[in-house]
Amino acid sequence: MSTHDEPENGSLDRARRSLRRADRAVALTGAGVSAASGVPTFRGEEGLWRDYSPRELATPDAFADDPVTVWQWYRWRRRKVAACDPNEAHAALARWTLKEEGARLVTQNVDDLHDRALRTAAGEAPIPDHARPVELHGSLFRTLCTGCGRRRERREEIDASSAGALPRCGDCGELLRPDVVWFGESLPREALDTAMDAARGASVCLVAGTSAAVQPAASVASVAADAGALLIEVNPERTPLTGRAAHAFRAGAEEVLPALLGGG
Ligand code: NAD
Ligand code: ZN
Repeated sequence: MSTHDEPENGSLDRARRSLRRADRAVALTGAGVSAASGVPTFRGEEGLWRDYSPRELATPDAFADDPVTVWQWYRWRRRKVAACDPNEAHAALARWTLKEEGARLVTQNVDDLHDRALRTAAGEAPIPDHARPVELHGSLFRTLCTGCGRRRERREEIDASSAGALPRCGDCGELLRPDVVWFGESLPREALDTAMDAARGASVCLVAGTSAAVQPAASVASVAADAGALLIEVNPERTPLTGRAAHAFRAGAEEVLPALLGGG
């Protein structure tokens, strides 16, 4: 096995061939694939809102104590994402999953950019189930009822001006929360099972834009590698997975993924 500090053509060609030959492949993405779209990451200044860090707001305790502030933060994040567009990385992954029945996309992102790119790539055609991104950490554009557990898509604005204005469940009347996995919470069982099945069955695992620091999401890649998958990493920086990668491309996903997966 070898790793490469810079993308170079030989390696790119070999990685591309491995992906093309694979009957089953899994891609794991993280916040880095949305960086070129301008979605704020949790690291650095732009991830901050007022004086809060995500660690203080993305917890069940924070929501129990002060749901108005937590919803105001999510309102801000939803608006930021709604103003962004999918980039070439999302577009390349969308075309790939539509074209290859054995391709599975697993994401840690809660933005809807994979989904929007998929709808653009599919055009008028129906979207097959296998092409839909497996969302390990939920979505900013869904709510989860704190009473009955029902999930609903929610794209319209949320009124978070006061406790009385917060959205409530039409079925049971309880408070709705963002359908996002918070610090200390378990991942949705079905999404995790689907992701792990895809990881165990894949002969190639493509990992893009994730620091591979958040568990169990990062274990999608290590489970695939343990089961014998060839690992391809796309990240401008080293991660704990880089040492296991057969090909490590140190560049942006928006640049490398179209070259790896085929252009438009
Ligand atoms: P992370 O912030 O821990 O790591 C991002 C990685 O992307 C870094 O390793 C960085 O080097 C890399 N990167 C930066 N620019 C890139 C580019 N152009 N192309 C490829 N890679 C690039 O992100 P994570 O691993 O996804 O974990 C963060 C957690 O926070 C996740 O749980 C996620 O749900 C949540 N989160 C999601 C979003 C989103 O939905 N867009 C944004 C912020 C945080
Ligand atoms: Zn309910």
